[in-house]
Amino acid sequence: MSHKTNQRNRCLECGHSLELATGLNTEHKPNPGDVSICISCSAVAIFDGDLSLRKPTDEEAANFPAEISQEIHRAQTVTRAWSRTFGRN
Ligand SMILES: [Zn+2]
Repeated sequence: MSHKTNQRNRCLECGHSLELATGLNTEHKPNPGDVSICISCSAVAIFDGDLSLRKPTDEEAANFPAEISQEIHRAQTVTRAWSRTFGRN
């Protein structure tokens, strides 16, 4: 199930509209501090306090916990496969 985030969210790398978010394997709704992966280009972003997206700081990117890094890699694998199959929107 997808959840509304911030209607003005766009990927900070490719500009793809990201007004919906879907948990990888859960019904988890996005919360501030959660990681987002762009469905179009697989860029990593962080949900800010108002659920807008921002780039992770260099320190955040270098210090994601191992389980988060694994989830990012897995999500990027899924989004790249999705993008190859369905193309960019
Ligand atoms: Zn993107």
